[in-house]
Amino acid sequence: MDYLPIFLDVQGRRCLVVGGGEVAARKVQLLLRANAAVEVVSPRLGSTMEIFHESGEVQWIQGEFQPDMVADHVLLYAATDQNEVNQQVSDLARERNIPVNVVDTPDLCTFITPSIIDRSPVVAAISTGGASPVLARLIRARLESMIPSAYGKLAELAARFRGKVKERIQPKQRRLFWEKAFQGPIAEMIFSGREEEAEQTLNEMVDLCSSKEGDDLNQGEVYLVGGGPGDPDLLTFRALRLMQQADVVVYDRLISPAVLDLTRRDAERIYVGKENNNHSVPQDEINRLLAHLAGEGKRVLRLKGGDPFIFGRGGEEIELLAEMGVPFQVVPGITAASGISSYAGIPLTHRDHAQSVTFATGHLKDGTSDLNWDALAHPGQTIVFYMGLKGIEIITAKLIEHGMDPNTPAALVQKGTTPDQKEYIGTLVTLPEIVSESKIKPPTLIIIGSVVTLHDSLDWFQPDERRSSEPRVF
Ligand code: SAH
Repeated sequence: MDYLPIFLDVQGRRCLVVGGGEVAARKVQLLLRANAAVEVVSPRLGSTMEIFHESGEVQWIQGEFQPDMVADHVLLYAATDQNEVNQQVSDLARERNIPVNVVDTPDLCTFITPSIIDRSPVVAAISTGGASPVLARLIRARLESMIPSAYGKLAELAARFRGKVKERIQPKQRRLFWEKAFQGPIAEMIFSGREEEAEQTLNEMVDLCSSKEGDDLNQGEVYLVGGGPGDPDLLTFRALRLMQQADVVVYDRLISPAVLDLTRRDAERIYVGKENNNHSVPQDEINRLLAHLAGEGKRVLRLKGGDPFIFGRGGEEIELLAEMGVPFQVVPGITAASGISSYAGIPLTHRDHAQSVTFATGHLKDGTSDLNWDALAHPGQTIVFYMGLKGIEIITAKLIEHGMDPNTPAALVQKGTTPDQKEYIGTLVTLPEIVSESKIKPPTLIIIGSVVTLHDSLDWFQPDERRSSEPRVF
């Protein structure tokens, strides 16, 4: 290690910044976040610094830097465009053993400012030892996505309970206690804004842990997570975090291999798509399975394609859990219509084409469907059919019968947002033919409406290029 990583307490202590421009202002901003008493020396102030000065957050010493100014400061920053001044600040600081940073000049520094992730009181700092600030920023961006913004709240909760836990829980159980608190339902409650509930549950956990049944800390929970339409880049941060902490994953055929790949390596995986006899596991069996696994104290990830509450039967899956008092949470995902609309260059609404959009199921009960065909056939809107392949003949016939122009543009998009995405463009009247001739397979989404004409000019996604791209590393 070339540098010693430490966190410095500068609260209320005098820190001097030499320079009044934008670069100096960024350092001031950092010092202010740590509640330092900031003094700025410069003949003039830039616009940001001017704001700090006017609001009384910094003290401005108007004029040129003078050697006697460094005394009594705990930290120095030099950010001027005059090399001699920067050099002078650095020399004086070293003589007096005051830590000094000269912006963008590692040779003149005795400390460097890391890239930081601020979830106060949790703060992570990343440094490349001055080798590449850009690389440090990229690493930071990665970590940002993995450290939920509510981690600070979690740390505050832990601070409030620290004394109590120390008093009531045996030292050897303490580590286990905190691991459970930070990884299980309590953390999730904080992340989803249920702070009071978290506090109450933590209290109960302390009681339980200090009583005889202390071993019985294992309460499972279910995460009903939308995995998006296929491209793993479309997952939410929360989805990814839960995917990486669940003990068991229950998934079906809509989940792309690339998304499944991001679940914890050692998690148990249960496929409920098609069984050997080619039938899906019945819904009520899945519902019971989720409750059963959570009952064993497991963190269960129910991973669904797209969004769990859009034609995903997500509501049914959590009904039983709610009845049984099993904790659960629902994480939205990008639904197929949204993902495919973007990746196929077909906006779902457009001032000149469609003032509304309807998501409809093409899954027809007994060969027909109780959809309001009159309303769907109305011009000036976009209709997106999920699960519409099998019923394509009936769907198109019904729409035409109810007055829709047979030449209305229509698109079929197969395996949207994945490297195998394929688009077929036609009209209402040609769709059934395209399906049978091109042997289109599920999952395929059907988009009907004049917005489809925009596809030619707005399509940007190149599945083939993506196929040859480097595997993603998370
Ligand atoms: N909950 C899912 C939809 C489940 S219904 C969501 O929000 O997206 C299953 C139907 O979704 C499929 O029959 C197909 O019409 C559509 N679908 C899902 N993913 C798709 C994809 N990657 N490409 C095309 N269609 C998709």
